[in-house]
Amino acid sequence: MTTNPQVPLPVIHSAIREDIISNLLSWYDENKRPLPWRGAEPYAVWISEIMLQQTQVISALPFYDRFLKRFPTLRSLAESSQEDVLSHWAGLGYYARARNLHRAAQIMIENHDGQLPQTAEQLEALPGIGRYTSGAILSAAFNQQRPIVDTNVVRVLCRVFGLPGDPRSTHNQKMLWSFAEQLVPADRPGDFNQAMMELGAVLCSIDEPGCERCPILKHCAAGNSADPSVFPEYPANRPTVTVTHSSAILRNDTGEVLIVQRPQHGLWGGLWEFPRVICEPGEPEIQAAARAVSEYIGVETRIGKRLAKIKHTVTHHRITLYGYFAEIETGLLSETKIQEKGCCRWVELSKLRNYPFSSPQTILREHLLIANCL
Ligand code: SF4
Repeated sequence: MTTNPQVPLPVIHSAIREDIISNLLSWYDENKRPLPWRGAEPYAVWISEIMLQQTQVISALPFYDRFLKRFPTLRSLAESSQEDVLSHWAGLGYYARARNLHRAAQIMIENHDGQLPQTAEQLEALPGIGRYTSGAILSAAFNQQRPIVDTNVVRVLCRVFGLPGDPRSTHNQKMLWSFAEQLVPADRPGDFNQAMMELGAVLCSIDEPGCERCPILKHCAAGNSADPSVFPEYPANRPTVTVTHSSAILRNDTGEVLIVQRPQHGLWGGLWEFPRVICEPGEPEIQAAARAVSEYIGVETRIGKRLAKIKHTVTHHRITLYGYFAEIETGLLSETKIQEKGCCRWVELSKLRNYPFSSPQTILREHLLIANCL
């Protein structure tokens, strides 16, 4: 199927549309999981949708409760520090989501009377909210007839309509949004969208879809084929990149440990970590740990024993992080040097957990605290 803007998008036959809607909603009413954000107020729906952008339901649940307990209202979120917000996001990953939530809450206080706006245009002007999230919020929280297309919905729609080719292509994205738009009903739009996602999550799974129990099997092209799991036709994955990181655990005379804050943007933006570098090809991890300290505060160090070796995968990067104890070898560790680097801070061990760390650095921190019986 080629991209051709002149070719009209397919129209779903009205009888098929009605049957899909009614069968799916009936199935949803009987089978939906009792998730805390269903039927919640708009602020909580928004929080849940941001958490679910790159996180599975089962992983998001404990964070959702904890986050809403700490930030029960949009105003409480807007008036908190970014560090506090990141601390309550620690472990969920993709921290740009937390920074965007925080900023969006402040904008809503400033420009929208502390309320979630109720138009797609205004919602999508907020940080972290795209077409999918605005559709999810407007349909679930405000009962508006808005479509959504997330990973689960893509899988269901590609299978039902037997859509060939990469679902991320421009043409297929248009097709998928068109199908979703045609299907979402005026009555119960939020429930219908939730039902599509629920079907993808619990029945129309990636490898083994449970077609024999599916409420829309009779309308599904893939479900009536030899192998439904052929759809969606994603191209082969990007190759995995293996990378080694090395961190130094450096303490001063009073026992405080040096941590540094990452720049606000990019991977692990705004989070804290022990001084860390990516090992150059062929560079021993011990040497890289010494380089990490030198690059941050300009002193030579003697690297001691290894504290931990941690494996972590983020997107297509497979990271091995080494953590080494370090002692200052030469050069004075003057306060001037530390203050020149605004991102560095000496912190008592007992206060390390007050700082949000990335996932691999959190594990390294816990190794350190356990080694010190904290
Ligand atoms: S019939 Fe099978 S492939 Fe089709 S939507 Fe249902 S579970 Fe998915």
